Amino acid sequence: MVAMKDLVAFCKRKGFVFPSSDIYGGLNGFFDYGPLGTELKRNVKNLWWKNMVQDREDIVGLDSAVILHPNVWRASGHVDGFSDPMVDCKVTKARYRADQVFYAPISVAGKLLGYICVTDGEERDADIAKKTKALLKAHNCSQEKPDEIHLKPLTEAKPEEFALIPSPATDKPGDLTPPREFNLMFQTQVGAVASEAGIAYLRPETAQGIFINFKNVVDSTRVKLPFGIAQIGKAFRNEITPRNFTFRSREFEQMEIEYFLPADETLWPNLHQKWIEERYQWHLSIGLREEFLSFDVHEKKDLAHYAKACTDIMFRYPFGVQELEGIAVRGNFDLTQHQSCSGKPLEYFDETLKTKYLPYVIEPSVGVDRTVLALLVSAYDEDEVNGEKRVVLRLKPKLAPIKAAVFPLVKNKPELVEKARGLFSRLQKRWYTAYDETGAVGRRYRRMDEIGTPWCVTVDFDSLDNDTYTLRDRDTTQQTRLSEAELITFFEKELQ
Ligand code: ATP
Repeated sequence: MVAMKDLVAFCKRKGFVFPSSDIYGGLNGFFDYGPLGTELKRNVKNLWWKNMVQDREDIVGLDSAVILHPNVWRASGHVDGFSDPMVDCKVTKARYRADQVFYAPISVAGKLLGYICVTDGEERDADIAKKTKALLKAHNCSQEKPDEIHLKPLTEAKPEEFALIPSPATDKPGDLTPPREFNLMFQTQVGAVASEAGIAYLRPETAQGIFINFKNVVDSTRVKLPFGIAQIGKAFRNEITPRNFTFRSREFEQMEIEYFLPADETLWPNLHQKWIEERYQWHLSIGLREEFLSFDVHEKKDLAHYAKACTDIMFRYPFGVQELEGIAVRGNFDLTQHQSCSGKPLEYFDETLKTKYLPYVIEPSVGVDRTVLALLVSAYDEDEVNGEKRVVLRLKPKLAPIKAAVFPLVKNKPELVEKARGLFSRLQKRWYTAYDETGAVGRRYRRMDEIGTPWCVTVDFDSLDNDTYTLRDRDTTQQTRLSEAELITFFEKELQ
């Protein structure tokens, strides 16, 4: 699997993802997508929209505002409860999410020597070994074997233990502040005069925009339960420790569906399973590697009080197995809250049962940025062609930023250039196509392989005589000779 630092460097070098505000030193937790990343991301969103909305009869789309009435976030529980526990190192001022910091007592033959404390991440195991060794040395026990080490998140530390746990930055007990809750919503002001009343929030999820429009959609369309409302859009969270590249950022995009169904305890389990299976298949269909995908079924005790079930689709990123998509059954908590806080009836009238109720909802919610990152991890490959090492991005053609590249064999033969430009401009009307005439053809192939372009079409001297072109495949590097009509039929078939 590609190492994270190589992928980050690759993304910058090739124009997939740049650190945001790069020339000002970057801004932690924010990213800018470059020319190729923008295409890749757009292809992901378009395909999700096509598959989840346009190819189905039971889901409609929505595009709600980023800034909603602040009461939306009071009703949803975000103002009071959308927080992570945070600790600070008093000395270095480093800030950590308490559930991402781990501690363990270190003892030898049952005698406690002290505590170690490490942060989550690629270096964790090496850190544990290093800090344990240092503690043994400080107690003149370097030759002894420590008892088994049981790591726990800092959120589980008892108050009396807390004073003994060192800061992961200084390794000195007492340097960490006790955990306190930190609300992740970004605040802003609406209107010209700064005041309490003008405080608003950048949405931390797109879902609430869907719930507050439930009645509008029911009244303005002909949807009948079960049906879904889908939305793609930016979400903002003031993450305490943004990290792992775009995986945990402060500004990101979500693709969310709220799938409403009758409030009937017998219906949701099957539908939930169907959604889990459908979304898993979708991730396979876009080219995520099967061996990197898994499920995390949440235990009842870990669910929010209103949730009935939740299964996450997990992906093995270079920094570990992490959530890619959550598929939760939320009961009718959100509609109940918005009905009671807004005072507006939001019930659905069921014509079959001749009764009104607030439907249940299943929420498949996936991050665009996490999907793009998982695609890059799945597609990035290095192999050898004719004894030469190459980087190849094995993206599915429908996801690839550039679908085809047209080359004249050489650039100093006007008749080749003219024919190649003609073919390029006709293909470009249908698909995002590149034109490249610089350097040896082999070099041009490599450049296209590296950015995932599935096909290169070369115009050579035979093309002038018989109107056929060499089509070269990125993955197999095999070449075939096709006419323009055959090329177009081939692309149409492969890209549908
Ligand atoms: P995590 O536990 O990883 O913080 P979450 O459970 O808070 O995620 P949800 O609130 O379920 O995430 O959000 C739905 C989806 O939005 C996630 O599955 C993920 O793909 C995406 N997402 C959430 N937070 C971020 C973030 N900070 N950066 C990028 N994507 C995110």
